[in-house]
Amino acid sequence: MGIRRLIESKKNSVNQKMLHYYLNNCSDVVFSTGVDFVINYCNDTFCALTGFERSELIGSKLTSILDGQNGERLLFLNNANGSETFRIEISIGSKTGSIKKIECKTSFFQNKLFIFIGRDITAQEGIIKEKDDKIKTGEEEKARSQEILNSIGDGVISLNDKGEVIYVNKQAIDILGFHSEELIGKLLWKKIIMTDDKGQEVQIENRPIRMALFTRKRIYESSYYYKSKDGRFIPVSITATPLVMHDMVVGGVDVFRDITKEREVDRMKTEFISLASHQLRTPLSATKWFAELILDDSKNLNIEQLGLIKNIYTSNQRMIDLVNALLNISRIESGRIINDPKPTDLRKLVEEVVLELTPKIKSKKHNVILSIHGDLPLINIDPRLIRNAYMNLLTNSIKYTKEGGEISIIISKRENELVSQVSDNGLGIPDNQRQRIFEKFFRSSNVIKVETDGTGLGLYLAKAIIESSGGKIWFDSVEYKGTTFWFTLPLSGSVAKEGEVTIDS
Ligand code: ADP
Repeated sequence: MGIRRLIESKKNSVNQKMLHYYLNNCSDVVFSTGVDFVINYCNDTFCALTGFERSELIGSKLTSILDGQNGERLLFLNNANGSETFRIEISIGSKTGSIKKIECKTSFFQNKLFIFIGRDITAQEGIIKEKDDKIKTGEEEKARSQEILNSIGDGVISLNDKGEVIYVNKQAIDILGFHSEELIGKLLWKKIIMTDDKGQEVQIENRPIRMALFTRKRIYESSYYYKSKDGRFIPVSITATPLVMHDMVVGGVDVFRDITKEREVDRMKTEFISLASHQLRTPLSATKWFAELILDDSKNLNIEQLGLIKNIYTSNQRMIDLVNALLNISRIESGRIINDPKPTDLRKLVEEVVLELTPKIKSKKHNVILSIHGDLPLINIDPRLIRNAYMNLLTNSIKYTKEGGEISIIISKRENELVSQVSDNGLGIPDNQRQRIFEKFFRSSNVIKVETDGTGLGLYLAKAIIESSGGKIWFDSVEYKGTTFWFTLPLSGSVAKEGEVTIDS
């Protein structure tokens, strides 16, 4: 007796009608079979799910519409007894060929009837599988990223938006000596002390990662030290990057490298340059002196000989300039240079520089305009240093501007600083080389072919001088249109610094 007969036997009852209505309109799949698994009842939901007519289903074996090995799942029902209810999952091949998964509760009724009540879980299976796959790929991806982060040579510390550490890689732990548990959840700037090259603690607001979080910009810094757990100060090169999602800063990453070895190599390089330049100066000075002697008394020389001696003199002078530049750099880098500020009239200083460069300006037929603030106060700076900076900027404008160029020098006064501007309408600096312009030995590709006379040391030195005098230097340039350099000097003056040597000009 199937459910239908059960229902029919109670035809007259209102409850039976309700049951009939419910069975055909509910979302559950309901069907029943005899012990031989021949279907003897199915509701409309089961027909709709399988795509078969009721007449096609009734009387056929359930196993004939089960997908693949599913039939075996039913066999254990043969051992069922009495009141037991089983949960099983079966797959049914629908009329259209698609596979439907049903999660069923199966009861063995009166030792004659299997009643199946189930839910279609085909779609859910897909979602669960997709979710499982995603979790799997997510976990795999996480494991892979962790592996990569742990095997790279840089230390990596990841922070949330409050600055609390949420991840530290192995290299960071090795460099700093902290265990990750000592850092995770702590504010990075409280837990790891950072100092500058004078041993002063870097203020929180100047820490690269704090600046990256606040400015939303990537910050590079290579002049600071991290203090390790055992108290060592480790020079580090840091790249601090903010993590921005949906226009909100959600955290940041501090990637850093121990640059102790680079610092040591740099120091040795500076020492070598200083030593070699010193040794070169004596023979170069002697050559210059002898060439000058011959040129002073040149009446016995023919034109060709005079030309050769002049050539020796200018080539030797170029070598002296190079050696001086190298020496100045090694002095400034080793911190041995004296900064001896005295009240200085900048107008006079600039006029002297222009006067000294007049032969070069004239030979290139440039027009130089000087515009200096009328009421310029004396400023407390080291005139030798600042003179060198003007000299470098103006020499560049003369060199890198075609004949008949326009060069201007403007000095203006702002609230608490003097701003110097040196402009030309020369070759300019290519856009893609702008960020390298203050690097040591860097010369841009557009000038190398045109002007062979250059070392790439002038701007590096000018920047070092201006910054050590309390100012800033920057520029703007359009290739083949011209270049403007600006630098500031604080009206309060530069801070005096003791040292061993002064700059060579
Ligand atoms: P250099 O001895 O080569 O002049 P600097 O350090 O003074 O070295 O300048 C570095 C480079 O910057 C130059 O080689 C040139 O490519 C570029 N540069 C500097 N000033 C100017 C300028 N006024 N116009 C065009 N290029 C400039």
